[in-house]
Amino acid sequence: GEHDLVAFVKEIMVAFERIASKHKIDFQLITSETEMTVWFDVNMLDKVIFNLLSNAFKFTPDKGRVYLYIKRNSQDQVQIVVEDNGIGMTESELAHVFEVFYQGDNSYKTLGTGLGLALSKELIALHNGTISVRSQPNKETAFTIALPLGKSHFLEEQLRHDQVEDFSMDQKLEL
Ligand code: ATP
Ligand code: MG
Repeated sequence: GEHDLVAFVKEIMVAFERIASKHKIDFQLITSETEMTVWFDVNMLDKVIFNLLSNAFKFTPDKGRVYLYIKRNSQDQVQIVVEDNGIGMTESELAHVFEVFYQGDNSYKTLGTGLGLALSKELIALHNGTISVRSQPNKETAFTIALPLGKSHFLEEQLRHDQVEDFSMDQKLEL
């Protein structure tokens, strides 16, 4: 359904505030938007942003930074960027990062299964969006999600699922 992307992202960020302060990580949302209405599936985008943030925190040493940007790319597209200054990735790691079960050579402190980004790519594709990455070892990593703003781009199949989701949300509100 239609949701305020800025409020949605802020809510996910709350879950990382404790780990940020524990590891003295500079954690910020950088946007000039106060509100932005976007058509997306709450459950899917939650998984994607949660995974990007947990990766950023997992691979960024103490006193580093994790910045999340929301910016309007054009009239009909929004960009969400999750950027960190952690261990980064080499060109050869980057080439595999969206593959199922892939974990980088330098994932010494990795917990997980290597599924997060492969799943994220599928979930963003269902929104007719894209996810891309740029990185430099020991310098920075930035994942960029580009999403269409309106529902006209939303894949038919997903649209039906979304109506079901909105219906069950209405049901919950009645309780
Ligand atoms: P899961 O997400 O299933 O818990 P995971 O985090 O290892 O496990 P992905 O999220 O798919 O899996 O990430 C795949 C690999 O990409 C990681 O193991 C890591 O090697 C690399 N990677 C992802 N994000 C970053 C990042 N911000 N900095 C450095 N390396 C990263
Ligand atoms: Mg992950």
